[in-house]
Amino acid sequence: MRVRPQLKPISVVQRPAEVILVGRALEATYLDDVDGSVTALLRLLAEGRHTIAELPAALRALGFEVGEADVADAVRALDEVGVLLRAGSDDDLDPATRRRHESNLRFYDLFAGLHRTSTDFHRAMAAADVLLLGAGGMGSGILQSLIGLGVGWVRLVDFDTVEEKNLARQFAYGRDDVGRTKVDAARDWAARYSPGGTVVEAVHERVTDVASIRRLGAGASLVICAIDSPDDVHLLVNEACFDLGVPFVTGGLQYSTMFYWSVEPGVSACRRCLELNRQDEAATMPALLDRSVVLPAGRANRATGPVAQLLAGLVTLEAGRYLTRTDPPVAAGVYHTVELADGMATVRSPWPRHPDCPLCARVAPARSAAALSTAG
Ligand SMILES: [Zn+2]
Repeated sequence: MRVRPQLKPISVVQRPAEVILVGRALEATYLDDVDGSVTALLRLLAEGRHTIAELPAALRALGFEVGEADVADAVRALDEVGVLLRAGSDDDLDPATRRRHESNLRFYDLFAGLHRTSTDFHRAMAAADVLLLGAGGMGSGILQSLIGLGVGWVRLVDFDTVEEKNLARQFAYGRDDVGRTKVDAARDWAARYSPGGTVVEAVHERVTDVASIRRLGAGASLVICAIDSPDDVHLLVNEACFDLGVPFVTGGLQYSTMFYWSVEPGVSACRRCLELNRQDEAATMPALLDRSVVLPAGRANRATGPVAQLLAGLVTLEAGRYLTRTDPPVAAGVYHTVELADGMATVRSPWPRHPDCPLCARVAPARSAAALSTAG
């Protein structure tokens, strides 16, 4: 295999007898470099011109006595810390796709390596099928981001029509769309924005039960829930996704708290587990039961444009992790919140699997045992 490894455009800091690779803010890699050979190798790798087999000779030409195995080991180690990609892998795509998806490919570079290229991630996205429930503030923004990413197919489900008040935050719609169904207007926006790109199937339907979600999700590789009714919609989607065997991602705004989380059936804890955990808590803490609600929380929608866009972005990033597997999902069984009224404080709260969850009990024992041992 004529793989030409290339150093990603990270910072390389030189110190006496040491080089430091600084890419991600929270992670630096320190390498001993007493004779300067590591720096020389990094310079060659930055060029991305040599195959692994050609690198030892190139280093010897610079005066460093290195063996083939040493160089191969060094390249493998650099690949393991995530600083190498495969030079020229964009060439596997046609020029029009490269131009259209340039920034997507450079985003995927963050996660690419010698064995998985940015082209591979892009192709996974282009082959993916998504069921998107909701074309409102968050859902229409998610649709726009999915189309920007070049996802293959979206079945978009919503029952509402475009109203004037939606124009504050639902940027797929314009004044001319007021009165049209959101799914039709969104499908038309997609066709204008990205002709020949994502196929958007518009379904004008209200989601009411598990069976309808199961039917709508047939063939999908992921479900995104961007609706908040009926009240138990998350439990319904959760159950349907166990039947479909696909993950789902959701998010929303509750009073001043933005939230998002996801479920990977058989791998993470699920939404039903969360419900059962909450029931246990209520049972063991009688004070919670004594606290009767005098006024139920209102349902005003205070998601402004930036709030809806931020939520759509967070949910779409998580969706992208499932669709491409660039990196593991960050919100599988983990409640992520961003608090708008408290300095944008972020909190990450994992919830455990519940031993009595009938849905998690359904998954194949081998898979669930492996998942449980890695979930803790
Ligand atoms: Zn469960």
